[in-house]
Amino acid sequence: MNEFAHQAYIGLGSNLDGPRQHIEQALIALKHLPVTTLVAVSPCYASKPVGPQDQPDFVNAVVQVSTRLSPLALLDQLQALEQRHQRRRLRHWGPRTLDLDLLLFDDLSLDLPRLKLPHPAMQDRAFVLFPLADIAPELMIGATRLSDLLLHMKDHDLQRF
Ligand code: ADP
Ligand code: MG
Repeated sequence: MNEFAHQAYIGLGSNLDGPRQHIEQALIALKHLPVTTLVAVSPCYASKPVGPQDQPDFVNAVVQVSTRLSPLALLDQLQALEQRHQRRRLRHWGPRTLDLDLLLFDDLSLDLPRLKLPHPAMQDRAFVLFPLADIAPELMIGATRLSDLLLHMKDHDLQRF
């Protein structure tokens, strides 16, 4: 990848049908995205579900990619990959075989219905911030230091594998 490549961070989550396998398969697929290099992969974490609690715990991880795709082309790829894992949107915040969130794309701010950047919920989610800090401890999220966000994350229910 060259100087025209963008740096993007992607959050992965799964809580159905063998979550760790879905995450492993998604990592392999991300490695093979067009004009994209997988730069870093965080450890996996187990987290309690957001929203309805009558569903299994999640497995989460975060990756960094270097890509020449545009933000929307990368989102298209991530959504196609979710579909290949037979994700069905049964209910909001419900269980899913694979959830792929585009967290950051360079330092771009976007507010489209299909794509908001930085991902609007990431600042509050321990299962995003901790794995992100494993691979990019110096990262800035807009004007905020990732390390400062982590200082405010106290009562999280997160377990590193
Ligand atoms: P969540 O991940 O919050 O549980 P879903 O994955 O079910 O929600 O829904 C994602 C929806 O949000 C999609 O329609 C997608 O186009 C939109 N979206 C907006 N911004 C982003 C982003 N940064 N990453 C992924 N999806 C996004
Ligand atoms: Mg999502």
